[in-house]
Amino acid sequence: MSPSRLDEPLGKVLGTRTAQSLGKLGLETVGDLLRHYPRRYGSPGEMTPIAELKVGEHVTVMAQVRSATVRPMRNRGGAMLEAVVTDGRDSLRLTFFAKRQGVLRMHEDKLRAGRTGLFTGTVGEYRGERQLTHPDYLIVGVDAADADEAVLEASRPIPIYPAAAGVPTWRIGRSVRTVLDPLAEDDVPDPVPPVLREKHAHPGLREAWRQVHVPENDSEWRAGRARLIYEEALVLQAALARRRASHDALKATARPGRGDGALAAFDAQLPWPLTGAQVAVGEEIAADLARETPMLRLLQGDVGAGKTVVALRAMLQVVDSGGQAALLAPTEVLAAQHLRTLEAMLGSLAHAGRLGGDANGTRLTLLTGSQGSRARKQALADAASGAAGIVIGTHALLSETVQFADLGLVVVDEQHRFGVEQRDALRSRSEHPPHTLVMTATPIPRTVAMTVFGDLETSVLAERPAGRAEVVTHVVPADNRAWLERVWSRVREEVDAGRRAYIVCPRIDEADTADAADDGGEAPDDVLDGAVHDGPVHDDTVQAGELALDMAGGGSGPGSAGPRGTKPPLAAATQVAQMLRERPEMAGIGIGLIHGRLSGDDKDAAMAAFASGETPVLVSTTVIEVGVDVPEASAMVVLDAQHFGISQLHQLRGRIGRGGLPGVCLLVARAEEGSVARERLDAVAATTDGFVLADKDVELRREGDVLGSAQSGGRNSLRLLRVVRDAKVIATAREDARELVGEDPELAEHPALVAAIEDWLGEREEFLERG
Ligand code: ADP
Ligand code: MG
Repeated sequence: MSPSRLDEPLGKVLGTRTAQSLGKLGLETVGDLLRHYPRRYGSPGEMTPIAELKVGEHVTVMAQVRSATVRPMRNRGGAMLEAVVTDGRDSLRLTFFAKRQGVLRMHEDKLRAGRTGLFTGTVGEYRGERQLTHPDYLIVGVDAADADEAVLEASRPIPIYPAAAGVPTWRIGRSVRTVLDPLAEDDVPDPVPPVLREKHAHPGLREAWRQVHVPENDSEWRAGRARLIYEEALVLQAALARRRASHDALKATARPGRGDGALAAFDAQLPWPLTGAQVAVGEEIAADLARETPMLRLLQGDVGAGKTVVALRAMLQVVDSGGQAALLAPTEVLAAQHLRTLEAMLGSLAHAGRLGGDANGTRLTLLTGSQGSRARKQALADAASGAAGIVIGTHALLSETVQFADLGLVVVDEQHRFGVEQRDALRSRSEHPPHTLVMTATPIPRTVAMTVFGDLETSVLAERPAGRAEVVTHVVPADNRAWLERVWSRVREEVDAGRRAYIVCPRIDEADTADAADDGGEAPDDVLDGAVHDGPVHDDTVQAGELALDMAGGGSGPGSAGPRGTKPPLAAATQVAQMLRERPEMAGIGIGLIHGRLSGDDKDAAMAAFASGETPVLVSTTVIEVGVDVPEASAMVVLDAQHFGISQLHQLRGRIGRGGLPGVCLLVARAEEGSVARERLDAVAATTDGFVLADKDVELRREGDVLGSAQSGGRNSLRLLRVVRDAKVIATAREDARELVGEDPELAEHPALVAAIEDWLGEREEFLERG
């Protein structure tokens, strides 16, 4: 076996020129090229619907030539060739220009009426008609390298690759065949162990590549694809299974609690009964904490499901066992709010050792980046001495040199992008890793949970506490002035009735480019909220520029102007606050402003003024996205709502209707009827069920977005796997992986699988470093 053949640089095998053009697609080695899979397959009998092509797209079209004529250009001199191709219904014009007619005769000769070909180029417009100027093309059966190829081309599925300008799909196809042909089965280490190939009747990797790149017929490429999808799922699941196994080998301190401590006292003073779901999940967690294997559990519960009390009870069990608990919030606003909420819920139990404190209780402390140095010093001392049984902060708690006397439990709130890396950071803190509970209000479809959190146990809080009111949601088109005025008078009505309203904007001010940067990098950055591309269906081409963007983790937000488009700027909180202060509807009303660039104290002050009613209208960015709890808030207006993803809107909306008051949420948007953006907004308006929305979200996404940006780079191992479509395969691969790892925890028998796992992890880390 010589795995090095796949690592050979393409220049060595294909020559520098070809290698350079393939380099535009991020393909460097033989292995990269072989894993550059066709996006779809064409057949000479199946034309591309021309009516669906959009101006500006780079496309590859299968069509039939109707006519081609060369004529001189009277005004400019020189000549042009105009050809018309058709899908049988609509037509597309091809134009070529040249100094002399002779050059064009070659095209004319090939572009004979009745012939079928693939044409690739960027769709332009001339006098209201769509055209390709100087397209690259391949005439089926004519442009082939030799007669054999010509026959094959005319009778077999034609792979259509993601291409780039200047690298048409057929050139990629030829390069693939050049590198694939000389490879033997043994040159290709197969990550799928023979037993599993046999079990699922999958071909070896070399054969699977042959099937997808040079299929004899449709069932061949389908079989090859199925095997490659399974391979991706297996690599992923094996990585997670191995991680879980090594986690289970760690030892934590058991925290069984005691019957007469803070937890018992807390339960006795709760103003309402726990819901059935809170009790059940509480028992699961209590049992986990009592074990010596570190808990690694994901708690999902929709907005308002009551996760905080579940977390607090777990923390008290640890405190009762002599340990400490850390609660990590995604933002400083939330950390501060958690401190207030927990202190209020605990009452005298939060003041142990102080006047009026309960001896059974503990002390709470808050540790954030923006607090003054004295407060910070005190907090660090309380964490290190153990005086504080519960330490609340942001993720800085993990990365900084914060010492704990005896950290027994880490609760991570409102985060489902608590990735492998953060889990490792926690683990390496001490010889005895703490128990870990990750909580998220964004319901994660089961398949995503399995894929991204395959090494976590999962609990779901399905039931909500009684007495929560309905929130009605409407989409308001931004270009309808009358409706927009109605929005502001509606806000006024809420305020006059003694309630509060949030006005949410995607940007802080005009200088802000509106991305996750809002909260100083702390903004919850979540798997389901990656860029949603409503790209055109026929775009077979990854433009080199876009690819670079993707790989840098940039990616434009769902509604933001793309590299080519220019749209009006998104609403900015600072300007909107100013505008509202001048609107007649808001006369005499205090308008507050909060965003991530304010200091921690200013944010607290803005929240307090809103909660008290001093400024009953609060203009904000997504700093209020998660967890913020003001029961009087009954209305929310989201400006430029098309900019936000489904789960983000669902989170935002969760801020209202919390105090038993019915809520109204108005999504003001620039989103055309029928666009994907509009479909997302309509989905949010149609239901408040987070799980329904999570599924809808996944359905509306293209490609690998669901797996988060870390997996959507140009070079990555998850090329074909789609979490929703391939749910069954993922579940099967999970079983298989667990079995393999169960028998052979280090996977010593499966070096090719290990190599594939390392590759995958390596890419992730590489990506994160580039961040
Ligand atoms: P989330 O799951 O979104 O974090 P919270 O923990 O903030 O939800 O709970 C939402 C609200 O419901 C809080 O005001 C909390 O005090 C209240 N709550 C939690 N559990 C119950 C319960 N069993 N009965 C009544 N109210 C509850
Ligand atoms: Mg919460």
